[in-house]
Amino acid sequence: MTNVNECCHECNTQKIDQTKNNCPVCNKGGISVSKVTVEHLVTDDYHKSVEGEQYKICMNEYCNVVYYSVDNEKKFLKDQVRVPIWFKKDANPKWM
Ligand SMILES: [Zn+2]
Repeated sequence: MTNVNECCHECNTQKIDQTKNNCPVCNKGGISVSKVTVEHLVTDDYHKSVEGEQYKICMNEYCNVVYYSVDNEKKFLKDQVRVPIWFKKDANPKWM
């Protein structure tokens, strides 16, 4: 599988293959959410930095990213949203 070696060895080991529209941090596929949802859930500090129309939510419980934009580099982490994200590890309270 790792027969492509376009750069140096170090680059290959550090760079993850980013799939378009997947989470910019863990590279897992997300679920589409509307921008309005994101605007409602991020804290006031980040409210105005919600840009772009298409957002996704990262369902990986080990990933700190909650929402990320498909249109740009924007992403919102667990501590940038108002409510505990129940499926995220260390969410408190955890109802599972
Ligand atoms: Zn993620």
